[in-house]
Amino acid sequence: MLLKVHEPITKNYDIIIIGSGLAGLTAANILGRNGHQVLLLESHNKLGGFATWFFRESRNHVFDVSLHGFPVGMIKTCRKYWSKEIADSIVQLKDVRMINPQFNIQTEFTREDFSKKLAEEFKIAPEVVTAFFDYLANMNFYDDSKMTNGELFEKFFPGRNDVTRFLMEPITYANGSTLDDPAITYGIVFSNFMSKGVYTFKGGTDLLISKMREELLKNNVDIKMQAKIEKIYLEDGKAAGVYVKDTLVKSKAVLSNANLLTTILTMVGEENFPADFVKQTKEVRLNSSSCQVYMGLKEGVRIPHIGDLIFTSNYPTYDPNRLLDLKVSSRTFSVYYPEETRPQVENGRVAIVSSTNCHWDDWANLNPEEYEAEKAFMVEETIKGLEKFIPEIRDHLEVVEAATPLTVKRYTNHLKGSSFGTKFEGLDVSMNLHKKLPGLFHAGSVGIIMSGWLGAANYGVIQVNQIESYLNTFGADNV
Ligand SMILES: Cc1cc2nc3c(=O)[nH]c(=O)nc-3n(C[C@H](O)[C@H](O)[C@H](O)COP(=O)(O)OP(=O)(O)OC[C@H]3O[C@@H](n4cnc5c(N)ncnc54)[C@H](O)[C@@H]3O)c2cc1C
Repeated sequence: MLLKVHEPITKNYDIIIIGSGLAGLTAANILGRNGHQVLLLESHNKLGGFATWFFRESRNHVFDVSLHGFPVGMIKTCRKYWSKEIADSIVQLKDVRMINPQFNIQTEFTREDFSKKLAEEFKIAPEVVTAFFDYLANMNFYDDSKMTNGELFEKFFPGRNDVTRFLMEPITYANGSTLDDPAITYGIVFSNFMSKGVYTFKGGTDLLISKMREELLKNNVDIKMQAKIEKIYLEDGKAAGVYVKDTLVKSKAVLSNANLLTTILTMVGEENFPADFVKQTKEVRLNSSSCQVYMGLKEGVRIPHIGDLIFTSNYPTYDPNRLLDLKVSSRTFSVYYPEETRPQVENGRVAIVSSTNCHWDDWANLNPEEYEAEKAFMVEETIKGLEKFIPEIRDHLEVVEAATPLTVKRYTNHLKGSSFGTKFEGLDVSMNLHKKLPGLFHAGSVGIIMSGWLGAANYGVIQVNQIESYLNTFGADNV
């Protein structure tokens, strides 16, 4: 049932889920389908978290915020935990391009195509390419290898910054990874993409989330939006509900899809955890944030097919730190050709979204005038970047808007506008949360491998197993 904003919540639940990102949504759907009483609370006025969209000019323009591409595994996840209809709308993006001073490559983003490009364009011996892919495929999460991405690339392609860029730059965009992050995170995410390429949801994020909402309601999940949770309620040392404004709503367990650090340190409070766990939590580093420029073209304008996903950079070499620079010259363009991406919309407009990774502090420390000036600079640089592919693009633009890390924070409450959750060490904290405070679980972007659409949705599934084990141990009279 969809609860109205001011409607009081009068019942208790098996599980309350705070946040409707893909992890929270997926967990809610499975738990509801499995017959549990579920309440899903979302602070925003729509479901989806980062899986979101917005309209401009009376719905003439629609922009997807994070529908740029995900691995093929999303089809299986959606079929199993959502519906066949959702899974059947997932299609491959065939035209990924990478254009920078070191190379200009068009690829299907598969192992076969990457192997071919590495051999033919980068002149890497085929046996080295095979050894690299086999090494990634055999990487074991539980080996606890300390190898970094930088060391991985040096091992197979010593001194080849161009090869590192080819293999790493898209993943840096996808999850904020750098050369210092553990190679296992790269191995998992890159192998996921390489298995069959990059996929998208045909119909747009709005259609996907509306279908997910239908499923949730069908599975008897209660949903309340504009419900920002500040405090998790504890009883006898266990998570036992939340405060929705001043009203206590009780439950047997709580799953937080909110930021990991906020959940532990603010919504519960460090005094409720063992000191060593608090220390471990405080040492978790947040991942980087994002800036985007959204460009909507005038009615009827069509552009030549310049690719679906285009990784561009003017920077001479691959340097993950420079990718985050305020004066960045590197960005990814996602092009939404309306007939392909939203066939259900009549007279759809072409939309182009440019994404860059960036640091929270670079934007948060600006005064209002500086902030506006940086935004204007970013927009202008983005349009100039696009003019290289479509010289007349400026004349075609009807809507141009920009988002910064401050926008990300405002809409998702993520600390420092973190787009991809936490660095690797956050995974351990998130997974062990329920062992430190019974009844409290976390699912959402953490540890690099659990971020992105597929990672977040799958993490929701993993946590459902933990939650159900916990609920099974619960006596009926505990609530
Ligand atoms: C610009 C950008 C582009 C991206 N592009 C891609 C891409 O192309 N492919 C891909 O796979 N991934 C992409 N991602 C990443 C991907 O979107 C996220 O990793 C994923 O959607 C995160 O899901 P989540 O479950 O962690 O929750 P989130 O999306 O972080 O959602 C958390 C939800 O919890 C709610 N919430 C938080 N605090 C509270 C509270 N106190 N009370 C109530 N509700 C609360 C928030 O409002 C939000 O709805 C991108 C991310 C960004 C920012």
